[in-house]
Parts: sequence; structure tokens; C-alpha cells
Amino acid sequence: MAESNFVDYVKIYCRSGKGGRGSAHMRRAKYVPNGGPDGGNGGRGGNIYLRGNRHYWTLLHLRYERHILAGHGQNGSKSRSSGKDGEDKYIDVSCGTVVYNAETGEYICDVTEDGQVVLLLKGGRGGLGNWNFRTATNQAPRYAQPGEPMQELTVIMELKLLADVGLVGFPNAGKSTLLSAVSSARPKIANYPFTTLEPSLGIVSYRDGQSFVMADIPGIIEGASEGKGLGLRFLRHIERNSLLLFMVPGDTDDIRREYEILLKELATFNPEMLDKQRVLAITKSDLLDEELIRMLSENLPEVPHVFISSVSGMGIDSLKDLLWKELNSESNKLQAITAQVRIVHQNKNLNFLQDELKAMGEDEDIQYIDEDQIEDLDDFEYEDDEDDES
Ligand code: GDP
Ligand code: MG
Repeated sequence: MAESNFVDYVKIYCRSGKGGRGSAHMRRAKYVPNGGPDGGNGGRGGNIYLRGNRHYWTLLHLRYERHILAGHGQNGSKSRSSGKDGEDKYIDVSCGTVVYNAETGEYICDVTEDGQVVLLLKGGRGGLGNWNFRTATNQAPRYAQPGEPMQELTVIMELKLLADVGLVGFPNAGKSTLLSAVSSARPKIANYPFTTLEPSLGIVSYRDGQSFVMADIPGIIEGASEGKGLGLRFLRHIERNSLLLFMVPGDTDDIRREYEILLKELATFNPEMLDKQRVLAITKSDLLDEELIRMLSENLPEVPHVFISSVSGMGIDSLKDLLWKELNSESNKLQAITAQVRIVHQNKNLNFLQDELKAMGEDEDIQYIDEDQIEDLDDFEYEDDEDDES
């Protein structure tokens, strides 16, 4: 997977900004015998946010940005001027990103919606300047507050593609071809098995500007029959799929039997897969004549089905109609919601996460060295940033 463009695990070091310190400045002007305290407040340290962005389909863009550091708040200064707040950082992630603590595997949060913003690390508050500490008894406080420290955290992000429809079929069933026919995705297509080693996603436009997401997920069946274990790796991408589209070529000897084998293979990975709604597409129907289609129709499994050809376009519109109808059925909506609830708030076994990172070639150690950290915040001195305003 090292050369892959499909990055579904990344490890990132994040750090919020520290708060700027308050100033303990004393105003000293000529001819003003008792200049007063006029130290301003420190600025707030920058926050780190996660933001769902539907334009990202992978976490590839984060691969080159291993350290995400928000800005520090600036220190307050004389004349009661407040330090500037540190710059906030937004980490744009694909919808369907789950974030874990890289040290413990603990679940942190889930970003599922476009535009959804989650606060990951809060910046330190700025310290108050001495101007704020004037009291009746102490009119010239010579101290100010330090800013609050920054926070740091190393996270592992996992991408679960949020596809609505997952394609299930043996190699050569025509999964990739269908995906290219109905969306702008361009998966690899070839007349030999195992061409699809990474999942592809496509947005299928439906009527009135509506759309749904279809995923060509490799490895579930291919991996299973080869004993490759690839399947498990990708299975999570359809944990949230609400519908599975089974694909069996029309020139298969026994369509019903092949469908049942697919079901069985799927169930050995995860029996919960059988709870999902199913639709059957009989592919490559351009190779069949009407008479044959009529005969085949008489012995099909008990699921909604449609004869299609991605080459001639036959049945493609009916397929979209059928998928849309099933996706929007009440029982499916209900099921999609429970599936989501089930996934949320699961901590991950750290070994599992590390194995996944390794598979992605993402397991090198991240260097945490950051000169800001060397500076000891406790050393802060309540200095009198004296200057001469003469
Ligand atoms: P996948 O392994 O399920 O992704 O299958 P592919 O989409 O790569 O297709 C396997 C082979 O079947 C390719 O040679 C395709 O050109 C061919 N194929 C796919 N769909 C059709 C179709 O509707 N009609 C015909 N005649 N051939 C198809
Ligand atoms: Mg394929």
C-alpha cells in the first residue's frame, strides 16, 4: 500500500497555541510622577479544529503535514494593548473520519458531515495584564498573569468511507465498470481479477440534483477467496453502507447459486453484513437475449433485481431508481442510524491501529521536537517591561 493514493490512516501531531502573557508594564512619562500600570492582556492561543470537507475523499493531503501547530497568543504590552490571539488551525478531513488518541487508542471524535467543526485542542487563555489588578490598596501592581499553556496530542485518524451503496461481487463481475458508468470515478478496469486493490468512490447523480455515493470495495470477496485477509482491512468502509449491491454476470451458470456464495462469504467476515438491504444486478446483460433474460428471471433469489449492462446502458436508469428507492425506504433509514450509533465511541486496540499504520507505510515515529516546548512556561517572570517613553 505504500504507493497508494488511498490514504485511510494517518498519524498527526497536533498542538494548540499557548496564551500570551499579560504585561506588567508601568507607564513612565516625563512630568508624570506616578505613571500607573498599563500592561495589557495576553492573546488567546490558537485552537485546533477538525472540519469535515466533502471535497476530500482520502486523508492523503494530511500525509505531508505531520505537525499541525496553532499560533501562540502574543504577549500583552504597554498602553493596555492586548496581544493578538494566536492563529486557529482547521484540519480538513474527509467526511467519515474517526479520530483516536495515538498513545492510548482511545476514541476522540467522529467527523461525518461536510462543514462539521469539532474542537480538538483548545489554545491557552491569555494572561491578564497588570492593568487588571489595580485595586484601592494596590494601585501599582507590578505583576501580571502568565498565559495558559498549550496542549498537545498525537492522533491517529481513520477514514471510514461513508458510501451509501457498496458493490459486492466476485472479480470480473463488472463492479468497476459500473462505477465508471454511473459516476465520474475512474477505477481500474481489466479482464482479470484483483485489479481493484483500493476502494473507489463515485458520486452517482440522481434526479433533481440529488446524489448518492457508491463504493467499489475490493478485497471483501477477492480477499476471502484468496485467504488474503485484505477484506478485513476494507470492511470498515462499508460498515456504514446502508445497502449492498450484489453483482453477478448474466452469463454465470447459476445466478442464484453465485449470489448465495457471495452472501455466505460476506457473512463469514461479519454476520452483521447480512442485516443490510440488498439489491441484485445481473451484469453484462448485453450478452443475453430477451428470451434468456425471461428464463433467468424465473429462477432468481428473493431480492429486488435488475438486468443491467454498463456497456450498452441497458437497465442503468432502472438500477438507479431501484437503489434510490431502497436507500430512502423507512427501514433503511432506521438501520443506517443504528449502524452509526454502533460505531461511535469505540476505543481501538492500539496494536490494531499500529498494524494499520504499518500497512499504510505510516508508522514512522513522529518527532515531537518543537523549540517552543523547550521554553519553560513556569519560568515566567513578572517582569516590569520598562521602557522609556520620554
Ligand atoms: P470487477 O472486477 O468486478 O471490477 O470487473 P470490471 O469492471 O473490471 O470488469 C471485468 C470485465 O468485464 C472487463 O473486461 C469489462 O470490460 C467487462 N464488462 C464489465 N461490464 C460489462 C458489461 O456490461 N458488458 C460486457 N459485455 N462486458 C462488461
Ligand atoms: Mg474492479
